Amino acid sequence: MSTQHQIPSYLTPHETGPWAVYLEQIDRVTPYLGHLSRWVETLKRPKRILVVDVPIERDDGSIAHFEGYRVQHNTSRGPGKGGVRFHQDVTLSEVMALSAWMTIKNSAVNVPYGGAKGGIRVDPKTLSHGELMRMTRRYTSEIGIIIGPDKDIPAPDVNTNEQTMAWMMDTYSMNEGRTATGVVTGKPISLGGSLGRREATGRGVFVVGCEAASKRGLDIAGAKIAVQGFGNVGGIAARLFAEAGAKIVAVQDHGGTIFHSNGLNVHKLLEHVAAHGSVAGFEGAEAVLPDQEFFAVHCDILIPAALEQQITAANADQIKAKIILEGANGPTTPEADDILRDKGVLVVPDVIANAGGVTVSYFEWVQDFSSYFWSEDEINQRLTRIMKEAFHAVWQVTEDKSVSLRTAAFIIGCSRVLQAREVRGLYP
Ligand code: NAD
Repeated sequence: MSTQHQIPSYLTPHETGPWAVYLEQIDRVTPYLGHLSRWVETLKRPKRILVVDVPIERDDGSIAHFEGYRVQHNTSRGPGKGGVRFHQDVTLSEVMALSAWMTIKNSAVNVPYGGAKGGIRVDPKTLSHGELMRMTRRYTSEIGIIIGPDKDIPAPDVNTNEQTMAWMMDTYSMNEGRTATGVVTGKPISLGGSLGRREATGRGVFVVGCEAASKRGLDIAGAKIAVQGFGNVGGIAARLFAEAGAKIVAVQDHGGTIFHSNGLNVHKLLEHVAAHGSVAGFEGAEAVLPDQEFFAVHCDILIPAALEQQITAANADQIKAKIILEGANGPTTPEADDILRDKGVLVVPDVIANAGGVTVSYFEWVQDFSSYFWSEDEINQRLTRIMKEAFHAVWQVTEDKSVSLRTAAFIIGCSRVLQAREVRGLYP
């Protein structure tokens, strides 16, 4: 796939993974962009890439260096916006792709942002609390030259949370000499965070999942669901579906895969994960499955909510689900998309399915600027309305143009970005 694309010189061919997937998705949408396709190269190269060295003093007195990134893919429609990931497998290609998907997502749900993403190549489980704080602060200081409340606003992603955002907000504020709450979203409520933000991505997955199920005539009550990733996104989506009467029959995380034909007790599983860090060892499971069997589990809805490139040509054929809700970013490769389409599986793409997080991040940013905070009900109602409207707008394009939901979401997302690009014109 990657060979037909022009790979930037700063990526070696074997590093192109998720970025090559994104480029293929752009190629698939280009024929539908009309006169705007003149500008499509804009989407095939990030606007700005910052690679930083993040040195810290470890608790034992030694010095450790980590590789950090912040990529601003596009700022045509507004400041950059996107999460920060701490993971041992973070690469520049991954951060580039994640930043690009943020551009498309923010545009597809029509929040006034461009796309950005950041990350540090580190296994945070190997760091103490103090080391994690020093690494987060040094990283924030290094990328401080390009982030800011009206430039680029980070948020949580894999292995980062409210505490990470609090450290980032404090570090940026100290360097600026003022308290800048709007520099990050996903903050604790005590620092200008928004009610409903922690749950927003999972709630958005649930809202579009209900819409997709009703399009397919599937009743959520009694539906069987398999979830990969039981963190912020997967854990909350599973809880909301279970509360609506669905059976969460399989859950996989980095520690293992568990199964129960009558549905796992999600509340007990959440408590187990909070205490032990993984679903492994959960006593309420009927069986522990080999990891490779997860995608073959009999279910109606499959929710990948972990990492990219999980559903590939190697396992797409085994999938039994009628609907896939992409809680994760980039979980399905283009080859797998084709196999799933031929099998009649409805794939609700990441750029719509997991857009609830950035939507409430937008609410948080607006609340910070106005220093006026909304009730949780108000937030959830506005979130639900935006998610439903975005889903139905994409569905309409799917029907009008006979394309997949992914291509339809990309048609809407790319068109808005390129319209902004065109009307702004090129500088100078
Ligand atoms: P998280 O750190 O809270 O949880 C990640 C989960 O994935 C954990 O359960 C972990 O065990 C699991 N996991 C990690 N490696 C795995 C592997 N190899 N196999 C199976 N499971 C594995 O992260 P999160 O915030 O829930 O993010 C999950 C996905 O959702 C990511 O793709 C992220 O980009 C995307 N996303 C997150 C948000 C958000 O608001 N947090 C918003 C939009 C999209």
